[in-house]
Amino acid sequence: MTDRPPRPPRAETREIIELRQIRVAQPELASAVDMQIALVDMQRRVQARVPLPWIQADPAWLVAQQREGRPLVRFGDIPLEWSDFRLTLRQTADILRRFDALEPADHEQIVAIGRSGNALEPIVTDWYNASSGVHAEHVSEMLSPRLPAGAPASLEQVLVLAIRPFLARCAEAMMQRLDLSAWTHGHCPFCGWEPDFAVITPSADRRLICGRCVAQWPFGAHQCPFCANDDRALITSFATRDGRYRVYACDVCRRYLKAYDGRTATRPVMVAVDSIATLPLDAAAMQRGYSG
Ligand SMILES: [Zn+2]
Ligand SMILES: [Zn+2]
Repeated sequence: MTDRPPRPPRAETREIIELRQIRVAQPELASAVDMQIALVDMQRRVQARVPLPWIQADPAWLVAQQREGRPLVRFGDIPLEWSDFRLTLRQTADILRRFDALEPADHEQIVAIGRSGNALEPIVTDWYNASSGVHAEHVSEMLSPRLPAGAPASLEQVLVLAIRPFLARCAEAMMQRLDLSAWTHGHCPFCGWEPDFAVITPSADRRLICGRCVAQWPFGAHQCPFCANDDRALITSFATRDGRYRVYACDVCRRYLKAYDGRTATRPVMVAVDSIATLPLDAAAMQRGYSG
């Protein structure tokens, strides 16, 4: 009779190891860390199943889209397999509910939408088209209602997280073969969403990071991506004591963006980790009257 060897622990990603370190160093962030670990782990498993798409777009169309400030990923380009998306939506809603980031009534309604075959597909398609602006004549069209009447507002947060593993594959595929030097906009060149983090490169340039597909693109270090204000005197910037992170706040539209300062860093930016490590910075920015 032989003893079965203990099963080796599942290989942990660098992100999860770093998140566990935050949990030790900043115990007040434990719940946020645990929710992030659950989300990162789930998204990583989904993304591993999603094939890298080969996006066939007319080069002239790609150039015209960029010139007009419209993003490049059409809904049909997303390698979205509906049964897998349905499962991802359900798991995302369950994780948010488990950590009290979603009200019980909203969770119930979102789970019901996910279960209903006829309801989900048009909701997701319309939401992506309206929020990406990929077909918009004018950028202002992106402000039209994105969710059907009666749907809980929190559905958008769930959709952003659930579509990420699929959409991130598109950005990954396109980033490799596209020149983004002509893109001067504050919204994502791939999916049209807003940045929710940034990184300062060792050469002191700033790259914005999309809050939906996590693509990166270069953007002026002293310009506001939300309202395009580029008056340096009207951008307030402050850093953490260790110099690792920085906030850029706009005194015109009163919004702010956090950044990882890669100039003195020992590792590359990891949005899933750095957005949690900087939760105290959000509090500081909001205390000064800015909003995220
Ligand atoms: Zn994006
Ligand atoms: Zn602004």
